[in-house]
Amino acid sequence: LLSKRLARVGELVPEQSRLADIGSDHAYLPVALVLQKKLEFAVAGEVVSGPFEAAKKQVRKNGLSDQITVRLADGLDAVEKTDEINAITICGMGGVLIRDILEAGWTNQRLQGNERLVLQPNIGEKPLRDWLTIHGYTIIDEDILEENNKIYEIIVAARRETRVAYSAKERLFGPVLLKKQSPIFYKKWQSEVKQRETILAQLTKASGDQTIRIQQIEKEIAEIKEVLPDES
Ligand code: SAM
Repeated sequence: LLSKRLARVGELVPEQSRLADIGSDHAYLPVALVLQKKLEFAVAGEVVSGPFEAAKKQVRKNGLSDQITVRLADGLDAVEKTDEINAITICGMGGVLIRDILEAGWTNQRLQGNERLVLQPNIGEKPLRDWLTIHGYTIIDEDILEENNKIYEIIVAARRETRVAYSAKERLFGPVLLKKQSPIFYKKWQSEVKQRETILAQLTKASGDQTIRIQQIEKEIAEIKEVLPDES
């Protein structure tokens, strides 16, 4: 059974995809999706040998070796042209790492640009959305959910004919999440405000001139408060 987080990622993968799950760990996601008959074919990519072996075992145990190929590779190097991959999931890592994996794939052309991307950064969503924007991706869907006291964002992106120029605000908060107004979204950003207020309180007591840092954090708080409902 998938975690709530991975189950939601799975729902956002299009039906009958040929999926590459990068950083697949135990290959739980591709295994579950193939068992649900949602995928035609999948590659599970892992760069570390422990998780790679675990993924192979999981695929074999479920009798899915014909539908899922497990490869030991760095990022999108796990993808071969003949796989005809049209969906990519990269989940459970920092947004900067996901961005670097996409950038390397873009540079060595493992990433064709026509795949649906379903990305689940644990942190660092902004640099990831920056990369997607620069590379002409449209953010077609986003979701935010809470599991075990952690809040996760999911970003679904694809390249479209017309480019969208996302603003800095959209790249920070998520263009779709800004519109969805989910209670979890507000919870996340209220907690981000609280964290910054704690830092501010410490800075005002700190020695030396903290003016620049204080101003920076006050600016961030003001930006966040702009997207929060008035009462918070
Ligand atoms: N995707 C699964 C999930 O969301 O539950 C596993 C997440 S796990 C925290 C991150 C996995 O990514 C680890 O197994 C790690 O070895 C793998 N990983 C990290 N960098 C990678 C890279 N450059 N290429 C392939 N896998 C990578």
